[in-house]
Amino acid sequence: MKITADYHIHTCYSGHSAPDQTPERIRAHAATAGLTHIGILEHVNSREESARLYRIREEVEALPPGGPEILLGVELNPVTRTLLTAIDRSDVADIGLDYVLLGLHWRLTREICAVDSLRFRCELELLAASLPWVDILAHPFWEYAPEVRLLGAEPWRDLASLDPGWVREFARTCRRAGTAVEMNGAMFTGRPPEFLRGYKAFFAALAGEGVLLSIGSDAHHPTEFARHQTLQQVVDELGLTDHCFLHLQPKKRPAQTIWPLPI
Ligand SMILES: [Zn+2]
Ligand SMILES: [Zn+2]
Repeated sequence: MKITADYHIHTCYSGHSAPDQTPERIRAHAATAGLTHIGILEHVNSREESARLYRIREEVEALPPGGPEILLGVELNPVTRTLLTAIDRSDVADIGLDYVLLGLHWRLTREICAVDSLRFRCELELLAASLPWVDILAHPFWEYAPEVRLLGAEPWRDLASLDPGWVREFARTCRRAGTAVEMNGAMFTGRPPEFLRGYKAFFAALAGEGVLLSIGSDAHHPTEFARHQTLQQVVDELGLTDHCFLHLQPKKRPAQTIWPLPI
């Protein structure tokens, strides 16, 4: 299967992306990469940050027609369990976006690092996957290495200790809630071989259980579109077909939207 959709592309409005990562340039890069559908989104961790979504939307709607279909999304990053459980469907219903991607950017604690951070994370990924308003669960098991090291722990080097029972339960939960799981380009880049082995096996198991997958470059910079090549290799290696993947279509967006997210 050739990758033709990427639902996780950041813009110059993130505050930490390349300044030329505009919707117009993103569309041009995506066309060159042979994509037919792209999802442009931004991190939103607070009500104030939602303004960037409106700016992106305005720019996208002002683009001349042509090129890959553009969908507008949001990457919600609740950073505590309370925030994760506090958001519900009514909070995201009126945003006027095409899809919601949720990614755990967890703040670890010394206690969690010392006890069993992987088991804790499994619990949270399961909870996130169960939320019916989430379309895509982004980058499972992503962690920010400097933060982890600051707490005296080491990033996960492999996922061999993932409990197969948990993987089955996670897959069941995703199917029931209609949540697709993202194969994120950054997760397949610069990781130790043992991590990649376990991570690929995780996605192979999910596909085998009938969970829909989603491709996301997580590009913050034009050069990061190159992650598609890495992702394509993984897709080929795992023998994933078009039926294994989520296919999003743009929704009819309301002209005026509000942002009632309580974070
Ligand atoms: Zn993220
Ligand atoms: Zn992202």
